[in-house]
Amino acid sequence: MRLKYKPWAKDKLDAHPQFVVRNPEDHKGRWKEVFGNDNPIHIEVGSGKGRFIAGMAQMNPHINYIAIEAYESVIVYALDRFIEADLPNVKLMAVNAVDLRDYFEKGEIDQVYLNFSDPWPKNRHEKRRLTYASFLNVYEDILRPEGEIHFKTDNRGLFQYSLVSMSQYGMKLKDVNLHLHQTADETNIMTEYEEKFSKKGSRIYRVEAQFTK
Ligand code: SAH
Repeated sequence: MRLKYKPWAKDKLDAHPQFVVRNPEDHKGRWKEVFGNDNPIHIEVGSGKGRFIAGMAQMNPHINYIAIEAYESVIVYALDRFIEADLPNVKLMAVNAVDLRDYFEKGEIDQVYLNFSDPWPKNRHEKRRLTYASFLNVYEDILRPEGEIHFKTDNRGLFQYSLVSMSQYGMKLKDVNLHLHQTADETNIMTEYEEKFSKKGSRIYRVEAQFTK
């Protein structure tokens, strides 16, 4: 998701330090202090406008959430949601997932969510896919031992690719769902893209994959 460059986005992010973490490298290994408690920390990589994280944070007050999104022009919308809902257990940071090791200590994160990640369908762009081996390696480093990635997408090609990539990496595929919305699940918080694509009739795929020792 790449929206028009918004010069005001930066100022707005700067004005809300209770939600926006501007120098995440300063908190490496000390995120529990940022939240002021010992609760588990879950992150969403590529969180877009933050619908998922806001919903999850409301539903699970004893889990801390961090929305991670590369573009300030996008994540500024997530900030609006967090302000509106006045959520104590969410933070956001405008950074690229490639650099997550700079911001989190080994094992500091309890769970990773990927939702409707950019498919990058061309073979020559494989390395940009957020389920490419080098990204899995980043998540493994920052996750607790046997931590999990929960991934949803409407893109069949990216889903198939990700299942292969995760199993080749040695991850255990715990739950593979080929039609998430076929059964009602009140705990499923829809993302923006999920709402948009499922309204159009697209099937939503989901996998829970776990790193093994
Ligand atoms: N999760 C949201 C948005 C999906 S679009 C939803 O389901 O509605 C994918 C998002 O991932 C885009 O906003 C894009 O900017 C972000 N993104 C892609 N690559 C990224 C990376 N390497 N680091 C951080 N964010 C990334």
